[in-house]
Amino acid sequence: MRLKALMGAALALLAAACSGGGETATTGTTGIDGARIIKADGGEWLSYGRTYDEQRYSPLDQINPGNIGELGLAWYADMDTARGQEATPLVIDGKIYVTTAWSKVKAYDAVTGKPLWDFDPKVPGETGVKACCDVVNRGLAAWGNMLFLGTLDGRLIALDRGTGREIWSTVTVDQAKSYTVTGAPRVIDGMVIIGNGGAEFGVRGFVAAYDAATGKQLWKFYTVPDRPGANEAEYLKAAESSWKGEYWNIGGGGTVWDAMAYDPALGLLYVGVGNGSPWNQAYRSPGGGDNLYLSSIVAIRVKTGEYAWHYQTTPGETWDYTATQHIMLADLEIDGKTRKVLMQAPKNGFFYVIDRATGEFISANNFVPVNWATGVDQATGRPVENPEARVDKTGKPFVVSPGPLGAHNWHPMAFDAKQKLVFIPAQITAYPYIPAAGWKPSKLGFNVGMDTANNAMPADNAVREAAKKATKGVLIAWDPVAQKERWRVTLGGPWNGGVLATAGGLVFQGNAMGNFVAYDSAQGKQLWSFPAQTGVVAAPMTFAIDGQQYVAVLAGWGGAWAITAGVLSDMSGPVRNISRLLVFKLGGKAKLPDMPAADELPLDPPALTAAADVVAGGATQYGRYCTVCHGDAAIQASGRGGIIPDLRYSGTLASAENWQTIVHGGALKDNGMVSFASVMTKPQIDSIRHYVIARANEDKALMAKAGAPKKVAMK
Ligand code: CA
Repeated sequence: MRLKALMGAALALLAAACSGGGETATTGTTGIDGARIIKADGGEWLSYGRTYDEQRYSPLDQINPGNIGELGLAWYADMDTARGQEATPLVIDGKIYVTTAWSKVKAYDAVTGKPLWDFDPKVPGETGVKACCDVVNRGLAAWGNMLFLGTLDGRLIALDRGTGREIWSTVTVDQAKSYTVTGAPRVIDGMVIIGNGGAEFGVRGFVAAYDAATGKQLWKFYTVPDRPGANEAEYLKAAESSWKGEYWNIGGGGTVWDAMAYDPALGLLYVGVGNGSPWNQAYRSPGGGDNLYLSSIVAIRVKTGEYAWHYQTTPGETWDYTATQHIMLADLEIDGKTRKVLMQAPKNGFFYVIDRATGEFISANNFVPVNWATGVDQATGRPVENPEARVDKTGKPFVVSPGPLGAHNWHPMAFDAKQKLVFIPAQITAYPYIPAAGWKPSKLGFNVGMDTANNAMPADNAVREAAKKATKGVLIAWDPVAQKERWRVTLGGPWNGGVLATAGGLVFQGNAMGNFVAYDSAQGKQLWSFPAQTGVVAAPMTFAIDGQQYVAVLAGWGGAWAITAGVLSDMSGPVRNISRLLVFKLGGKAKLPDMPAADELPLDPPALTAAADVVAGGATQYGRYCTVCHGDAAIQASGRGGIIPDLRYSGTLASAENWQTIVHGGALKDNGMVSFASVMTKPQIDSIRHYVIARANEDKALMAKAGAPKKVAMK
């Protein structure tokens, strides 16, 4: 052990010494530094959003509308996980590095697809219950000869890029709490920056910087204040008065789980801050207030971790309106002046253009229909709210658009500076927010202060069809100067992939219908499509080796919408999870194997024997503890791909004893299904079984009436 520790330290020192660039003895490759990330010419892809401005625009143009028809599969690699795949790969020195579900890492020769190494951080399966939105990971950061990985259970790990060997590992969160890490780290001047998620589970958000060489924490920036008097930093003291009640007891939220961008000239790191914990402001901060710095874009002086400025998109948020969505930087000519701007299309449905030096609000407009606000006040930069949407104040339910999964979620956008267009993987959604009465936080499960049982989708085909009709997925080309749409493509449903734009005049996007598609970026005309056999949610990237351009995307359906949206989760079609890295080039001739055979399983639940009040009690428990993973109204439509079991089809429904072994005893904790004995009694747990039996029988009757398709289970 001692030898191993010494070796690790020696490697860390060596890597640190090489972080300025140059050859190294350990890997034979060239170190990554800030200059290499900033000057990236498109041959490589060195950081999550390609460059620090996160534009996801590649100067490569070999693949273009004239030859896109010749684009074919160069090679593919099967992943060994069957959960959501959200990562953007990195390409460095001819090798491609990708993270997959459960925070695993894989390295391949980028030209041949030959596997080089893989790394499994062995995240305990029970961590899955802390994750709101599937056990996903969005990618790596690179510096020197190391790669940096955030793991679902909150570790930050440095790997030797040549071998995949662990160099150091730092626990970045209090692992007793429901923090999770799914985002890609960024590295700036030898500092690895990583945040975390967990705002649905009562945590206090922060982002922190670690020394790339050693893993030592350099600074930590909280996004919400501690109790009054306990805050040292001025920006946190200034935030105290924007909160009411004993907010510090329930965490407050404000997690920094995805977006970051960096301006080297200004020395500013920009982070997107998440929603309040709990969502319902009446419980989080009774009496209201802006609740700084929830749902804000915050600029941090990266050297010291000091606050520079903030812009709050949704003051006093109560709808899960995170501002963690993709932040991108660009220089735009606005009113005859070149402005250094920051752009974001957060969940709340407005597209924001902000001065990134000062935080000054420049403009905003909604990119999809919204009903929580009528607009953003040009003078104050504050939303003009619809009072009915303020369910925390009215105490009455209201169907709010967008819903908690947003008008745009984590799926990366792309920016084409030549055409001055931002491509937004957007969605049109709504959600019935019902403020919970007499709500108390629970030590396990979803803690949002809303009634997540009584808003379940009813077993009524007319209602279900109406909900589907009102829900859409769209790819929007948005002019950020004019704040208006140039073109849009309407897709089969929400939760489509991230976007890549190239100098070849192309926009690439995978979608929930199971296709990987190229569009002409000027008009939005579809030029090429590849059947990926699975829903694609991750963003594509591109690279070039020896004069040949490649486009890569990690396919594999999953994530929040896929697991939780119930009957709406597969409205793009019956999507299965087949997780694969797909790499394309002009003239590529590789072929995917045929789709694996699917078994048709009848929905054949036990007869309902319980009384109506037992079923109703089960519905309440299910809504509070089960919906977020097993799906709204016990429907896990996307579970056809085996992401999370659809309980209506569970063989365990027939046995009260086996049901208790799992839900009370925690027999499946290694799969993420921990014991709920600390929050529910055995009779309550059994009532969930009766509720699921009732739901399954309702749906069986609906299917018989409609001649609807049967459940498809993947082998
Ligand atoms: Ca959230």
